[in-house]
Amino acid sequence: MASRATTRQPVLALRAAYYPFLAAVCVLPLLAALALVLLAAHVPRAASVIAFCLAILLSACAIHVLAAFRFYRRRPSQDAWEFELPPAWHPALTALAHDVANRHKLTPPDVIRVHVEDAAYVWQDDRGRRVLVLGALTIANFSQSAVAGIVAHELAHLTAGDTELTQTLRGTVLLMGLLDAVFAAEPLYMANPLAWLLRGYHRLFALVFAANRRLQEFDADRFEVQQVGADACAKTSILLEALEILPWSRLHNVAESCLAVNVPLPQIFSEQMARARRTTTWDWQDACRKALARNTAALDSHPCLRERLAAIGVPPRRAIDLAGELDLAGPPARDLFVNWPVVEKFLSEKIVSIVREDRRIRQEIAQIGLGRPW
Ligand SMILES: [Zn+2]
Repeated sequence: MASRATTRQPVLALRAAYYPFLAAVCVLPLLAALALVLLAAHVPRAASVIAFCLAILLSACAIHVLAAFRFYRRRPSQDAWEFELPPAWHPALTALAHDVANRHKLTPPDVIRVHVEDAAYVWQDDRGRRVLVLGALTIANFSQSAVAGIVAHELAHLTAGDTELTQTLRGTVLLMGLLDAVFAAEPLYMANPLAWLLRGYHRLFALVFAANRRLQEFDADRFEVQQVGADACAKTSILLEALEILPWSRLHNVAESCLAVNVPLPQIFSEQMARARRTTTWDWQDACRKALARNTAALDSHPCLRERLAAIGVPPRRAIDLAGELDLAGPPARDLFVNWPVVEKFLSEKIVSIVREDRRIRQEIAQIGLGRPW
């Protein structure tokens, strides 16, 4: 953990240098244009007109940088699919999180929330509160023991200051994303060398940031292993990856099939796990093989499954064996809620509304692009 301050230095240095760099990219062409106006009488007229037009073209970056600044200052701080429930609804979950924190000397969360889609994560809000978010999929399908392992992993991120780093970099990451989107959408920027210079800087920043985030994951996994052991930690990782590979257990597919037959499904996450329980050992192992065959891409924020398991001492052959014995038994994490069915019904309606919105957008695109209903 002591080396963490060293590993985050490159990304912090790139962030510190970014704003002076951005200012230079915006201001220098304007200064060049001003200088040309002042020197117009001393240089050939044709050359000064061409140079002036070029300087104005390059100054276009400044306009979009200023527009992006205005937009990102109004950024929402919370994921729209993340919900805070009254603490009285999940006292046992709060107690579990604090037990895990005490056991491993980790920082406890200030707030616990649930998410419609994501498995689990932590972040720090604008008021500095440490927020632990557990996905409905995780709560509905995993045992309390497995959730304790996931909580240990997430609290390790809090303790190491990973969420503070993300909070520090959040505005910069968003600003870079906005500018990249503008540069990619405007054909004029294809001919603008300053836009390419900025995009190159953004790419370098993204590569360094992603590499640092992967190191954070390896460190956090060590705490999950301390909480539940290497095999249980590996099983959680395999199950989460396999659920996304097996087509009939993907959350969106469950919701799609429910929408297709127009049947209300109040407990979509339970339905997902019911499908998973009907999955054969061969299918689990096949999904695990596919997950193990994936490699880490340069911009991935998480290492691939194979590297992640190797770091906790689980070789691929052992992972395939574990995939054949995925144990979904044990006291379920949903019992940590006073009335989980009510929470699950609320979250199920949210995921169905996400899928319905996706379908509506796809239908509109099909109607516009192909001139026919989807
Ligand atoms: Zn993590």
